[in-house]
Amino acid sequence: MSFSMYLSPEDEGSLLSIDLQAIVSNWQTLTARLSPGCQAGAVVKADAYGLGADRVAPALAAAGCRRFFVASLEEGLRLRPLLAGLEILVLNGPFPGTEAAFAAHDLIPVLNSLEQVAGWAALADKTGTNRACVLHLDTGMARLGLRAEQASLLAADRSMLSRLGLIMVMSHLASADQPNDPLNSRQLAAFQKISQLFPGLETSLAASSGIFLGPAWHGHWVRPGAALYGVAPNADAPNPMTQVVRLQGKIIQLRDVDAGDSVGYGATHHMAAAGRLAIVAAGYADGYFRSLGNRGYGFVGERRVPVVGRVSMDLIAFDVTAIPTEALSPGAMIDLIGPDLTVDDVAAAAGTIGYEVLTALGRRYRRHYRGGSMA
Ligand SMILES: *Cc1c(COP(=O)(O)O)cnc(C)c1O
Repeated sequence: MSFSMYLSPEDEGSLLSIDLQAIVSNWQTLTARLSPGCQAGAVVKADAYGLGADRVAPALAAAGCRRFFVASLEEGLRLRPLLAGLEILVLNGPFPGTEAAFAAHDLIPVLNSLEQVAGWAALADKTGTNRACVLHLDTGMARLGLRAEQASLLAADRSMLSRLGLIMVMSHLASADQPNDPLNSRQLAAFQKISQLFPGLETSLAASSGIFLGPAWHGHWVRPGAALYGVAPNADAPNPMTQVVRLQGKIIQLRDVDAGDSVGYGATHHMAAAGRLAIVAAGYADGYFRSLGNRGYGFVGERRVPVVGRVSMDLIAFDVTAIPTEALSPGAMIDLIGPDLTVDDVAAAAGTIGYEVLTALGRRYRRHYRGGSMA
């Protein structure tokens, strides 16, 4: 059953605009930094960081991206029909028993443990074919990947290696967004040392931030995610990436308040003077974090308006007293993320990182995609 007969699209609350052309241009910006022999894939896990992998991945494929990274088998299966002939790598690797599904759908697992290695070799025994896979080496995250001594064991096991179809070794940097952290060089040295045990394979070390550490960190493939979506790769330097997201909160009511009136749950804000509030249709259920209560802000045109009181599940109050009355009416929009208010700005106000702001963006927003046509 559809309710569209009751609603024109403009009635449907807050609007999330996603600029696919900006994502493509960010991918091209990153690609332009790479040395010959190095290519950029694209990380589209978690539904392309909440922006819609079914739209983002085909747009990047049309721009020439050939290798895509997802987190799980399920994410890979969803993308497979949209990326015919292109590589999809699954970062979490196979759970025992799912190896055949990887093979059947042409998904390349990242093998993160000796158990996953053994499972992939067992599939080769069963089917008589070595299928492509990637080996993850841990160099300092202690998250996924073989420890150095496990990698040495595997490298010495010719029979196991001969059943694997390894195409690449990879590792992941823990502190690449802080270029001066000595861990970056230590991880690079460790990766170079361990990857020598697997000669002749492609290498991959850098995600978004690692690309900006310099060519030594690039290897054959870089794996950017966040930077594609406009997040700053280095928190202390100007952001070279183009903003991708605009989030416009719809005003559903404007109301006058008196000096001393309290606003919202817990009465955490009291009006210092009489004024005017705009009540916007978004809340923590939409990923507008509750921590933004009394800390976040929006923009009306070029004018900054503060969040007052707590963020509710579905509503946010902005103090718009400073905005001329005729400039706002119910149905007008306040930028919650926009030209003057980046994903990283919102994250800073919320006490988190841009990654979390993006992946939390709610499913209730009307979504509008721009650019990225396949033509
Ligand atoms: C998520 C992830 C990436 C992408 O990281 P960004 O910081 O978003 O560029 C790359 N590699 C691995 C292993 C990841 O888990």
